[in-house]
Amino acid sequence: MQILVTGGAGFIGGHLAESFVADGHDVVVFDSFDAYYHRGIKDHTVERCRAVAAESEGSYTLRRGDIREREDVRAAFDAAAPDVVYHQAAQAGVRISVEQPTHPNAVNVGGTLTVLDAARETGVDRVVIASSSSVYGKTHYLPYDEDHPQEPVSPYGVTKLAGDHYARVYDDLYDLSTVCLRYFTVYGPRMRPNMAISNFTSRCLNDEPPVIYGNGAQTRDFTYVDDVVAANRTLLTSDAADGMVLNVGSGDTIDITELAETVRDLVNPDLGIEHRERIAGDAEHTQADVSRARDVIGYEPTTPIREGVERFVEWYRANREWYEPLVVASREGGS
Ligand code: NAD
Repeated sequence: MQILVTGGAGFIGGHLAESFVADGHDVVVFDSFDAYYHRGIKDHTVERCRAVAAESEGSYTLRRGDIREREDVRAAFDAAAPDVVYHQAAQAGVRISVEQPTHPNAVNVGGTLTVLDAARETGVDRVVIASSSSVYGKTHYLPYDEDHPQEPVSPYGVTKLAGDHYARVYDDLYDLSTVCLRYFTVYGPRMRPNMAISNFTSRCLNDEPPVIYGNGAQTRDFTYVDDVVAANRTLLTSDAADGMVLNVGSGDTIDITELAETVRDLVNPDLGIEHRERIAGDAEHTQADVSRARDVIGYEPTTPIREGVERFVEWYRANREWYEPLVVASREGGS
């Protein structure tokens, strides 16, 4: 099949592109290589996808462009002629959205609308959109099912919720199927370096205590990237979820103190834990009820957090030479 992955040089989009190329599909990646974190990580992702394409029946094409630019997007759709679009491009991250709220709005709301509109105009079958647990925000009950009130507590959450609404309206009004997958904190190889598991690992390997923002009592549902890929893969050929929103999480939860201790105990048990001021806009708790995804697409999370963290730490050690300098450079703001 012909598949377009926006944001396909990024963390999750890169894993999706790699998996589809390995299966022999023709994949076009559309990505601006934004400066959010060091682009060297994206270069590795692209190299990896090219290497996989060389060994498979599939093809991999990289197009640089910005989802806010209608002409860039339309040219990519015309060139790729996709059956299915996986829209992963976004300005991810809560903190940057609190600091510069208009930028994530332009990319995540304006850009998503541009992608949906190009899909409508070019006769794409389905657009699968990366949504987020951030749309829930204030916790009324746990775990969150998809009908839980949506009261985002960050500008980022608002942008992702707006994307969900646009997707629903496009599915209703036009001959275009859309599915929104609400990811719950995703981690794994080549993950964004500013996320907790990557940061904890990097600091512990360098004999620095992991840093927790706030008291560490926040709880999170962490999802291993392979489970996210598996959920997306079912939507390549199935129309079962068309028009729907589905949670994609592990269904489990861990508090941030326990997570930091887990990484620390794996890497360097002698270290303490450092606390810094809580990040504004961060949700207090997240936990996915994945029953709808289980019923509709047969989604089954397979990686418990402890096992996933062990796999990530192992991957980090094996790739430390190239990944760590990029993690450190990203932490210092370089890209
Ligand atoms: P990422 O930053 O690694 O990937 C996003 C990619 O989009 C990057 O490669 C970036 O260069 C590209 N991009 C940004 N702005 C663009 C633009 N204007 N035009 C074209 N490309 C652009 O982030 P990720 O963690 O892989 O997230 C992928 C998607 O999943 C995002 O939509 C994000 O909101 C969503 N999500 C991620 C998580 C998570 O925990 N990682 C959780 C919930 C939702």
